[in-house]
Amino acid sequence: MSDAAIVWFRTDLRLHDNEALARAVDTHDEVLPVYCFDPREFDTTMFELRKTGPYRTRFLVESVRDLKRSFREHGGDLLVRRGLPEELLPGLANEYGAETVYYQTTPSTEERAVESAVIDGLDQRGVDHHRVWGKTLYHIDDLPVEIDRIDDTFTPWRKTVENEATVRETFEKPAPNDLAVTLFEGDSEPDPTAIPTPLESDDTERAPDDRAVLDFEGGETAGLQRLDEYVWEGDHLREYKATRNGLLGPDYSSKFSPWLALGCLSPRRVHETVERYEHERVANESTYWLVFELLWRDYMTFQFEKHGAAFFTPTGIRGVEKNWRRDETAFERWAAGETGIPFVDANMRELNRTGYMSNRGRQNVASFLADVLELDWRLGAAYFESRLVDYDVCSNWGNWAYQAGVGNDSRDGYFHVLGQGKRYDSDAEYIRRWLPALGGLPADACHEPWQLSDGQQEMYGVELGEEYPEPMVDVEAVYERLAK
Ligand code: FAD
Repeated sequence: MSDAAIVWFRTDLRLHDNEALARAVDTHDEVLPVYCFDPREFDTTMFELRKTGPYRTRFLVESVRDLKRSFREHGGDLLVRRGLPEELLPGLANEYGAETVYYQTTPSTEERAVESAVIDGLDQRGVDHHRVWGKTLYHIDDLPVEIDRIDDTFTPWRKTVENEATVRETFEKPAPNDLAVTLFEGDSEPDPTAIPTPLESDDTERAPDDRAVLDFEGGETAGLQRLDEYVWEGDHLREYKATRNGLLGPDYSSKFSPWLALGCLSPRRVHETVERYEHERVANESTYWLVFELLWRDYMTFQFEKHGAAFFTPTGIRGVEKNWRRDETAFERWAAGETGIPFVDANMRELNRTGYMSNRGRQNVASFLADVLELDWRLGAAYFESRLVDYDVCSNWGNWAYQAGVGNDSRDGYFHVLGQGKRYDSDAEYIRRWLPALGGLPADACHEPWQLSDGQQEMYGVELGEEYPEPMVDVEAVYERLAK
């Protein structure tokens, strides 16, 4: 055992299965857990959108609060600061006499740049640093092929991993006594333990729309609770494969994504729970499929480790040249859910009002932006980045690149949003929920209100162009062209 270590919390906001914390506790007498609210995370991006919008901000603040509460229950505390980690951490290490900083790495460009700056600062002050990998289900060191040689197509990669790699065991949550540290004496700030509000206060307030699939509450406590509810109490896992393309309600899919994105929930913990469920209740295609989806998450992460910043370029990782359009009005109509195509608009309005959208919805609105409107797909990705409660750099930009045909799996197809809407929302209940102006229409007309004659519009009490927009494009003509 040696003296003190700092654990720099990032997107691993949990006590369970946290390697950085477990290693620091194992090898040091005193551990100082630190979280830095980095103002850059709340800046405006090159697409003139706020990087972290209100839903994620609130979720993040709640998650940090929850972590702080947990440390306090363990007799310790979480030190929360607002500022640049590369300036704060070297100073804190010196102030508290910490000889090492432990942290979990994130394979994305900006996050890596921050990491490098922190390392430089620590090196200059002679402070050691120790980086761990903890984001994915499979550990990067356990992959059967080296990162540079990972297949750019999912299925072969998945098969190799399933056949040749194993998921590591989770790390124990440290015992209360291990975290009983009091390193706050002498701290210079008046209220060193206060959690700052990174945005204007009303932005972080909980204002759930009662149509939201779930009232997502940030933090490890709520994340573990959701895992328990979905898998054990609700027993929904046994039918996940059949329900996962749903659009309405809390349980058609797991909704683990916001907690996984901030690391409030560890993918290995989810996997462990699935295995226990398979042992104690049922093992079927559904139980397999949830893990299969976690493999997509892993894949996107490892793809970022391989390709890095190429994911943020218009041509993506495949160098595909397309004439992406820039049309601010068109983009704004898409973003506001005012395209006049109900299935697209319902999904965008759900995103705008709640911070969440189903996977089916995401695929469709992304395809509509990239394939039908032919707008620069990165605008859509940046908009999602700002709005999503579960934003994850790799999953978001990776999936957007995929939908735009410039990412993995060489997808050149598109989603026919009219057909998709009719298939997955056949009775138009989802459309009616998010577009109340169309509430009085029969299902068919909900999907294609432009087919209604003036007389029918009058009969149903909907005037296109007034209560609901006229379609911004002749979508059927576009699909005819795309089909050629
Ligand atoms: P479930 O269906 O219950 O899946 C379980 C978990 O598997 C999810 O929580 C997620 O961690 C993972 N997962 C499922 N599908 C995918 C996928 N296609 N790619 C990567 N991981 C997956 N997911 C994010 O977590 N953050 C994002 O920023 C994000 N952006 C997306 C953008 C687009 C354009 C698309 C098409 C998909 C995006 N996804 C993103 C993936 C997917 O839509 C969400 O993970 C999923 O809808 C979250 O709901 P859930 O937790 O109920 O998922």
